[in-house]
Amino acid sequence: IRDFLRSIGIEKEKTCTEPKLPVIGYMDTKRKELKEKQTLNNVDKHHMIRILKKQSYDKITGKKHTVINLGSYNYLGFSDCKGPCAEAAAETTQTCGIATCGSRQELGYLDIHKKLDTLVAEFLGVDAAITIPMGFATNSMNIPCLVGKGCLILSDELNHSSLILGARLSGASIRTFKHNNMIDLENKLKSAVIEGRPRLSRPWKKIIILIEGVYSMEGSIIRLPEVIQLKKKYKAYVYLDEAHSIGAIGNSGRGVVDYFGLDPKDVDVMMGTFTKSFGAAGGYIAGNKKLIHYLRLNSHASVYSSSMPPAVTQQIISSMLIIMGKDGTTEVPLLIFLPSKVAAMNRTCLEKGLGIVVVGFPATPIIESRARLCLSAAHTKEMLDKALAIIDECVNSKVHDEASQYAKDV
Ligand code: PMP
Repeated sequence: IRDFLRSIGIEKEKTCTEPKLPVIGYMDTKRKELKEKQTLNNVDKHHMIRILKKQSYDKITGKKHTVINLGSYNYLGFSDCKGPCAEAAAETTQTCGIATCGSRQELGYLDIHKKLDTLVAEFLGVDAAITIPMGFATNSMNIPCLVGKGCLILSDELNHSSLILGARLSGASIRTFKHNNMIDLENKLKSAVIEGRPRLSRPWKKIIILIEGVYSMEGSIIRLPEVIQLKKKYKAYVYLDEAHSIGAIGNSGRGVVDYFGLDPKDVDVMMGTFTKSFGAAGGYIAGNKKLIHYLRLNSHASVYSSSMPPAVTQQIISSMLIIMGKDGTTEVPLLIFLPSKVAAMNRTCLEKGLGIVVVGFPATPIIESRARLCLSAAHTKEMLDKALAIIDECVNSKVHDEASQYAKDV
């Protein structure tokens, strides 16, 4: 900052750490100019996220394309500005304001938050729930609340970074098991129980298994019935992240527990986010009363963070009420294998009218780059037929040659 200020002739003294008044004025003007320039861009991004049917897209090439969006987590189309929940969310802003500007412990806990907590618990079929303004923080801030030094975390090797961060921040010992591999999980549980804590000849205070319901990079569904059997056998706990499965799978949209017809009370900690099926923001932890009461008092994500904006809260309530009884959506990974073709696949699809999310190393193993196709209830059959035709076209040899050339050029 100092170098920048000096280069525009404003900063003179070496010791100055705060911008002086004229600088603020200058910065404000610059920011305003930038904002004006960005307005168009923001409108496009907004369209990209909201409108499943068509989107304006001007990343990468700078050109604008109208494409079918297979790259959004808006699985059920609820984040659409003309969707069935939009009006109620807008009305809530009129009655409750835009933000709460306070945490739950202060003045930020409104009736609407209480309503959402109760509804989430009812939806999932458990005693209680706590909702948090950010999905990522729901994992990264709550896991350290539940386990610590002397505890052991057994984590699926493909777990999301929010789970990994939460595990690391907790100070507990971490061992990973092979993705969705019950033999490996049992081996790790067995040795954890037999051996206990290294060099202490004491048992682990707690053993907790961290898993996701649907793994978005793979499209794989966790083998939950077996995980539950194992956790009972070895007296461990299960923490289940349903970010991609809640609202999306199961006969009545209640996630992977519902998909397998299991008792939700067998999962000790149920976690999920509202950024996918609910078209909103935030996350939840649900489970027994004691757990939720403990988190209400101790979770940093709740105690030291402002509560969820009212309109977002209302959006979740409206979409959850609609989901109760409706069926869902899925994610399909399309493996590309050659890392050099990932960017080109993205570009060629885009040019032909299809928006997809491509992911590669380090989010996936180096030879397992992929395009992730996020299907939504708001896609029509016609759109999906067209999307398949485009994908076919993009993987045929001619386009692949072009793609390889492009990758080389880049
Ligand atoms: N858990 C999983 C499994 C996720 O995939 C994500 C993000 N996609 C999160 C947690 C974080 O959720 P959010 O984007 O709502 O912060």
